[in-house]
Amino acid sequence: MIVVDSHLDLAWNALNWNRDLTLPVEEIRRAEAEMDDYHRGANTVCFPELRRGEVAICLATVLARCTPVKEPLLDWSSQEIASAMGHGQRNYYRIMEEKGQMRMLRTADDIQAHLETWRKGSREAIGYILSMEGADPILSPDDAARWWEKGLRAVGLTHYGPGIYGHGTGGTDGLTPKGFEMLKVFEQLGMIVDATHLTDKGFWQVMESFQGRVLASHNNCRALVPGGRQFSDEQLKALIERGAVIGGVLDCWMLWPGYVRAQTDNSQIKLRMVTDHMDHICQLAGNATHIAIGSDLDGGFGKEQSPGDLETIADLQQISVILKEKGYSENDIEGVMHGNWVRFFTEAWRGA
Ligand SMILES: [Zn+2]
Repeated sequence: MIVVDSHLDLAWNALNWNRDLTLPVEEIRRAEAEMDDYHRGANTVCFPELRRGEVAICLATVLARCTPVKEPLLDWSSQEIASAMGHGQRNYYRIMEEKGQMRMLRTADDIQAHLETWRKGSREAIGYILSMEGADPILSPDDAARWWEKGLRAVGLTHYGPGIYGHGTGGTDGLTPKGFEMLKVFEQLGMIVDATHLTDKGFWQVMESFQGRVLASHNNCRALVPGGRQFSDEQLKALIERGAVIGGVLDCWMLWPGYVRAQTDNSQIKLRMVTDHMDHICQLAGNATHIAIGSDLDGGFGKEQSPGDLETIADLQQISVILKEKGYSENDIEGVMHGNWVRFFTEAWRGA
C-alpha cells in the first residue's frame, strides 16, 4: 500500500552525515561501520528502501539552525550560514530530481499526477513536498517569498532551543516578534505552518494569530508519553478543529515514557505503539481522518532508537497490518497510510 511519510530529514542525512541515499541500506551501514561518532552504521532510510516500502511521497526537510544550543551538524554560528546550509540541502533535492530519484510536488495537480505515475508502476522518483524544520534559514519576510518560489510549502518556526523565530522543544517561552511577523507573511503566501516543535506557549500563539493551514508533521500524544515534545489533548483537539493531520512519529523517545537515549532497550518498543497514539487521536476526533505517519526515521538516530521490530523504513508497511488487526476499516487504513495527507494537501492547495 502506498505510504506518505510527513517527516524525513533526507538532505540533512545526505549533506551533514555525508550519506549517499541512492545506495542500498547495507552499503551505507558498511561505509559507516568504522565511524565512531554516535548513531552511525544503523541507518534505516535510503531511496531503495523508500521504494521497497512504497513511500510514494514524503515531506522532505531543510534542517539548519542558528541557536545557542550549538549542537554539531545542526547549529551554525550565524543565520546567514544556516540559510546557506538550507539552500545546500534544497540543492541536494534538486540534483536528486535531475537524477530521477525524486520529484518535487508543489500543487494538488502535482500530487495527483505523481500518484498516477506510481499506480502505473513507474516508481523510480520519490515525490517530495519541501518543508523546513525550524525557520532559521529564512532570512527575512522577502526571503520567505523566495523560498516559496523555490517550492517550500510547509514550515515549522522552531526546532530545539531559542531560535530566530521562537523557542522550540524544551524551551519555556513562545514566539519572538520576528516569529509573529513571519506568520503574517506565511498567511499571505499560503505557506502551511507545522506545529511540531513549538513550545506550549508558542503553539497557542500560532493557533491564535495564524489563520492559514496548520499540520503536525511528526508528533505523538502527551496522554500516553508525558513531556513537552508531545501534544496535550487540548492541543490535539485544537489541531483537529483546524483540520490538521498529525503524523505519528517512530523515535523511541516519543513512544516510551521515560526513555533514556543509549540506555533503554529498544527491543521492547514496538511499531504497534505508534498506532496507540493514532487510536488516541481518533477517540478525540471521533474519526480516523486526522492521523497519519510522520516517521522521522534517521532524524538524528538510527535503528537503535527505532521500534525494535523495524529494520528499515520499508517496515512502515507493517502499520497497515497492525491497524487491520485492530479492526480499522480498509478505508481508514488507506487514510492513515496515505489518504489523509493526500486529502490535506489537495484541499490546502486548491483553497478548499
Ligand atoms: Zn523533529
